[in-house]
Amino acid sequence: MNANQTLKTNHSVNADHSSKSNSSSNAAHTLKAPYALTAELTHRCPLHCAYCSNPLELQKRENELGTADWLRVLDEAAELGVAHVHFTGGEPLLRQDLEQLVRRARELGLFVNMITSGVGLTRERVRRLAEAGVDSMQLSVQASDGELSDRIAGIKSHELKRRAAEWIKAEGIPLQANAVLHRHNLHQVEEIIDLCVSWGAERLELANVQYYGWAFANREYLLPSLEQLQAAEAAYMRSKARLGGVIELIWIVPDYYAEYPKPCMGGWASISFTVTPDGRALPCTAAAGIETLRFDSVKERSLGWIWQESEAFTAFRGEDWMPEPCRSCDRRHQDFGGCRCQAYLLTGDARNADPVCALSPDHWRLADFVASRGASARSRAAGGENDPAITAEGDRDPPVARMRGY
Ligand code: SF4
Ligand code: SF4
Repeated sequence: MNANQTLKTNHSVNADHSSKSNSSSNAAHTLKAPYALTAELTHRCPLHCAYCSNPLELQKRENELGTADWLRVLDEAAELGVAHVHFTGGEPLLRQDLEQLVRRARELGLFVNMITSGVGLTRERVRRLAEAGVDSMQLSVQASDGELSDRIAGIKSHELKRRAAEWIKAEGIPLQANAVLHRHNLHQVEEIIDLCVSWGAERLELANVQYYGWAFANREYLLPSLEQLQAAEAAYMRSKARLGGVIELIWIVPDYYAEYPKPCMGGWASISFTVTPDGRALPCTAAAGIETLRFDSVKERSLGWIWQESEAFTAFRGEDWMPEPCRSCDRRHQDFGGCRCQAYLLTGDARNADPVCALSPDHWRLADFVASRGASARSRAAGGENDPAITAEGDRDPPVARMRGY
């Protein structure tokens, strides 16, 4: 399970991170140490989620960093000031050196979270990960019932997840969960929350799908209707009131329906970064899609240099790079102009304002797509067909099936 859908929120920095001067052209910007590293150990995954934000071109096993490289990355990350590491993928359990990496990260004093589909986990593997020192495990949840869950995952996996949750709890490891929400499971928000409570999860991220990688290719299949989103948000609010204190619930906003963009990653290369399976360091998990940037590899450069000096990391730090309308907008300190990856995907230029923004001259690109999706759902309903936006029936198979990447 990749963390991509759940990490584009505004992380709060709770470490005392030292300031360094940024040698980029944006000299006035004060550079802090990164708080979190997302270590994408592999793109291989037994699941086929249509909303996966891994790139369409998945890295093959033979291109993955070896154990020694990852150990060095962890050493350099700790030296740089990183406090929190997320081991993710793909499915990180497919790496046989996972326990070794967890152990090293703990020795370095990092908080270690592991994000998994639960598929491939055994009782013995959970015990070994606990011994290695994993601090928390985050299980992906596709739906509240086995039939829909297995359909979304593309393989039978719901029962394996239930067992994984049981073993994680039995080993005393704090359990978290994440559910990517889209047209085919939004009607189950309340049931998904109850399921996670019954599994003993302490925290659940309800992440409305973000359209990168496979999710972008499948966005027509995944985009919910406004009515469906409103009903789901109301269900989330009801559950929050009902379950206050039992489980921490995080709602990650559906930005295709927002007026202003999210403060993506808390600002470009400002709080955290990702290392991909083949060793490229990215300011955000989806950034590899920006073909106009060069992303340096940890095989050739130190993490410190990449964070402080590299072209990709310095490209959009601060505000000097911003064109209008962001340059003179009062909200620029709040949302940093939105998401660079989304700006690139939808306009072809990563410097543009995120088209989610109603003030962006490119907003029509997104608004037209949302409107046409709504119109096609309405015409289906008028023709007597089920509207998947409302009933979660029909459109059962995503047009682009995510490969396993083996
Ligand atoms: S296919 Fe699903 S489980 Fe696998 S990496 Fe992608 S989102 Fe995560
Ligand atoms: S114009 Fe730019 S800074 Fe202003 S709200 Fe829109 S994206 Fe944010």
